[in-house]
Amino acid sequence: MNTPSHAIINLAILGKHQPSPATIPIVIGAILPDLPIFIFYFWAKFFLRLPEKQIWSEAYYQPFWQNITATFHSIPLAVMGVAVAHYCGWPAVKQICLSAILHSLCDLPLHNDDAHRHFFPFSNYRFISPVSYWNPRHNGAIGALIELLAVLAATFPVLGLINSWAGKGIVIVIDLVYLIGYLNFYGRAIWGVLKM
Ligand SMILES: [Zn+2]
Repeated sequence: MNTPSHAIINLAILGKHQPSPATIPIVIGAILPDLPIFIFYFWAKFFLRLPEKQIWSEAYYQPFWQNITATFHSIPLAVMGVAVAHYCGWPAVKQICLSAILHSLCDLPLHNDDAHRHFFPFSNYRFISPVSYWNPRHNGAIGALIELLAVLAATFPVLGLINSWAGKGIVIVIDLVYLIGYLNFYGRAIWGVLKM
């Protein structure tokens, strides 16, 4: 799933009964699992100056980056984080870890050959979903639609949770980018099916 989607969906699910300061840890926990991927991309693109294709087909699959990404997408490690934070009385850390668990649960059904190892380091199992959130060769039209609809549905409660107009604006801009992106990419194919 795309990183901004996690922030909006996690806020809608976890933010319901929270005071507004808790929305920040939820957003941090929603983004954190994908942080190694951003750092990797920045490194590969601007330091190694690799071409886009090589970045995602080769460099991304190097064990070093795969292990860091798996660590940040690990459900058992995040569960341990929740337990430790609860025991130590760190509510913000607990929210971050809960949000990271939800991130992984949302990624699980929407990744095909780029599936993460969500049970790392205890298992290297990857759930290869038949539906990808981006790859048209693996039902990307359906996966991207599921993500789009989930984000749009989550938008209404999230707008109620965010106090700042800048924050509300960011959410609406993300929605519009997704909507236009989806119609741009899959719209012609959908229109072709409807006309038949
Ligand atoms: Zn992710």
